[in-house]
Amino acid sequence: MFPAGQKDLDLLRWQIATTVLEASEDLTDMCCVCSAENLDNPEQDENTTWIACDVCGSWFHHVFVAFPNTAETFVRMAC
Ligand SMILES: [Zn+2]
Ligand SMILES: [Zn+2]
Repeated sequence: MFPAGQKDLDLLRWQIATTVLEASEDLTDMCCVCSAENLDNPEQDENTTWIACDVCGSWFHHVFVAFPNTAETFVRMAC
């Protein structure tokens, strides 16, 4: 319980909208299974293979996908 003026409510709505927007922007750069970020950092990605769905562009850690590492295209079952 807290006293909220109109200004506070506007700020709150703006913060929520911004958070949602940022979350949806980041979605394509995150693993859809464990939500780890797909970092463009060679040192961190060295031992991690990523694979992207050709339909929706969602990224997955290859360990979560039963798909040949050498295949050129990947479409997840949900797509
Ligand atoms: Zn993952
Ligand atoms: Zn997909």
